[in-house]
Amino acid sequence: MDKELLALLVCPLCQGKLKYDRDQAELRCHFDGLAYPIRDDIPVMLEEEARVMSVDEKLNKPSLQDGGLSAMGQGSEQKDGQEAGSHKPTA
Ligand SMILES: [Zn+2]
Repeated sequence: MDKELLALLVCPLCQGKLKYDRDQAELRCHFDGLAYPIRDDIPVMLEEEARVMSVDEKLNKPSLQDGGLSAMGQGSEQKDGQEAGSHKPTA
């Protein structure tokens, strides 16, 4: 994959930057947790073709220094953990 071409590619869903994984031959959007396959050197930028990444893969996200978060102001990664911890036994 050409680096310049890569720079032009963005996620079709969130328009965020994609991360190229050479080993898996896919482009990953860490915002949506989707990995787009690359077939015959052609990135398949279709949501229905994308693979849902595992939690582990999602954790391995690009650092903020990458400027990855500046692309969009969407905060799908930040969840309000409000319902967590409300499951206390009363006795
Ligand atoms: Zn995305």
